[in-house]
Amino acid sequence: MIYADNAATTKMSPAAVNEMISVINSNYGNPSSLYTLGQQAKEVLEAAREDVAGVINAEAREIYFTSGGSEADNQAIISAARIGEKKGKKHIISTAFEHHAVLHTLKKLEREGFEITLLDVHENGLVRPSELEAAIREETCLVTIMYANNEIGTIQPIREIGKICREHGVLFHTDAVQAIGHIPVDVVADNIDMLSSSAHKFHGPKGVGFLYVKKGIRLLSLIEGGAQERGKRAGTENVPGIAAMAVAIKEVAAAREKNAEHLLKNRNRLIQGLSEIPHSALNGDAKNRLPGNVNFCFEGIEGESLLLLLDDRGIAASSGSACTSGSLDPSHVLLAIGRVHDVAHGSLRLSIGEDITEEETEYIIKNVKEVVEYLRGFSPIWRDLMAGKREFIL
Ligand SMILES: *Cc1c(COP(=O)(O)O)cnc(C)c1O
Repeated sequence: MIYADNAATTKMSPAAVNEMISVINSNYGNPSSLYTLGQQAKEVLEAAREDVAGVINAEAREIYFTSGGSEADNQAIISAARIGEKKGKKHIISTAFEHHAVLHTLKKLEREGFEITLLDVHENGLVRPSELEAAIREETCLVTIMYANNEIGTIQPIREIGKICREHGVLFHTDAVQAIGHIPVDVVADNIDMLSSSAHKFHGPKGVGFLYVKKGIRLLSLIEGGAQERGKRAGTENVPGIAAMAVAIKEVAAAREKNAEHLLKNRNRLIQGLSEIPHSALNGDAKNRLPGNVNFCFEGIEGESLLLLLDDRGIAASSGSACTSGSLDPSHVLLAIGRVHDVAHGSLRLSIGEDITEEETEYIIKNVKEVVEYLRGFSPIWRDLMAGKREFIL
């Protein structure tokens, strides 16, 4: 099987698995306990905090462990909103193609009376910094813009965005779940105040992640209980998961450049090969995108059928069409970059992993070409397009 859905989740690295097992077996004490076994678990926890911080150029005390990217996004946004609200600031700026962990949190705040401005990400899937600057108001308490998009892989001009926020004294949060481990992230150079990350997107375990909060910025807790994570996140820490996350993040950081080179080569070949399919289009900017991300729309087919047939041929991929998640609406990301419904339904995301081979890349190209042609063979929309009863969009 060729696993080309690394944006959904990744396979844990053997070193991370070993670390997890070792901590489960040997460091099972509660880090809040005062006897030696507890304090040993506490040491594992604090060493992991140092490791994670080091990779993003943060300090250990700026790292708060969470249950993953969704929780980190929720906490950062809700905390900033509650603090802003107290100062009469109830305006938040974001984009229309954020992850649902961000968008649904913003919707909730909107129902409570917050005003939300969603910036246009344009056809190339990129925010224009000048438009962000124009949207900032006196009452803006937060800007939250993702580092890299999970569907189309576009990488935002985060450093510039952060600089604008800092100049205007507005808090800046970024969902960096897809960025960490894949592209360089430096919270100081990038002017980031808060950042969310998730271990299972960089070969760590599921159900664990972290929130970076720059020192001096207040953070409110979402979960009430004990005083773990300096009172900002109650609940006994997931010590084995956190230790494994630290191993995984150090590994991906050390191998990042080498991996990126290999991924880029295969990604570019995939883009070139799939572009040969008539009436197809790459989604998102060709250059400012994650090294492992390929996302295409093919006119006249359904993404879901494409996925199932690719699965039969041993390829695990994803579609922007949300049919799989029980909704008939096409991907909000593809709609945000201006794809019309019919076209957005025929999308395919391939998020390749570092272990992909050239043969696998060629196998994917050959099979996507065959399956798209096969599906078009009995698509009524395709028949109409070919008969000139409908206009081609792509
Ligand atoms: C996966 C993902 C999340 C959610 O992370 P979880 O750890 O699965 O909760 C949030 N944002 C982005 C961009 C993601 O890709």
